[in-house]
Amino acid sequence: MRMVFLGPPGAGKGTQAARLMRRHGIPQLSTGDMLRAAVAAGSAVGLKAKAIMEAGGLAPDALVVGIVAERIVEPDAAKGFILDGFPRTVAQAEALDLMLETKGMALDAVLELEVDPKVLVERIEKRAAETVASGGTVRPDDRPDVLARRLKAYREQTEPVSRYYAESGRLKTIDGMSPIDRVSEGIDGALGIATEFARQA
Ligand code: AMP
Repeated sequence: MRMVFLGPPGAGKGTQAARLMRRHGIPQLSTGDMLRAAVAAGSAVGLKAKAIMEAGGLAPDALVVGIVAERIVEPDAAKGFILDGFPRTVAQAEALDLMLETKGMALDAVLELEVDPKVLVERIEKRAAETVASGGTVRPDDRPDVLARRLKAYREQTEPVSRYYAESGRLKTIDGMSPIDRVSEGIDGALGIATEFARQA
């Protein structure tokens, strides 16, 4: 199963992708995690992405497409993968289609979690407060000013990606405002699989 997970920062993609990963035994490939690892390692990719990420902007398409192309051919992705945070521009979505086509592959599902923008800010503020309370370090790009820029980048550059998939009839939108298990149920429904999150009657 090869999947793309779309949704703004704070929509719950990470949580839901982690559940799908456990359930289907396929890796969750987060470009944000890959870029943060590259920054931490001080690699050439990391050096290029660091300042952009800190400012809440998007890393260059070619750079991100390059790391995804290398990642999806790793042995653990042979059975499939869940792309989390990629594609974030229409150019990336087109590059992904081409990349998969040349490998004789295609996406099985494109899921989008839809959440009210006001709730996103609340969720990310909560995530930051919980991190501080547990003695951790808040992600620099979860600070309010940077978050505002990330949400703007999402509206301007990533919402067209939803339209790109919708136009080719591949987009399945799920309400991301419900409790976590209900969202998981919605995802199972969209994938046409029996849910293991059915509510108690
Ligand atoms: P995330 O963890 O998905 O919120 O990503 C954190 C940051 O990494 C984003 O704000 C961007 O600066 C960068 N990033 C992650 N994925 C992409 C992508 N597909 N294209 C461009 N930049 C990305």
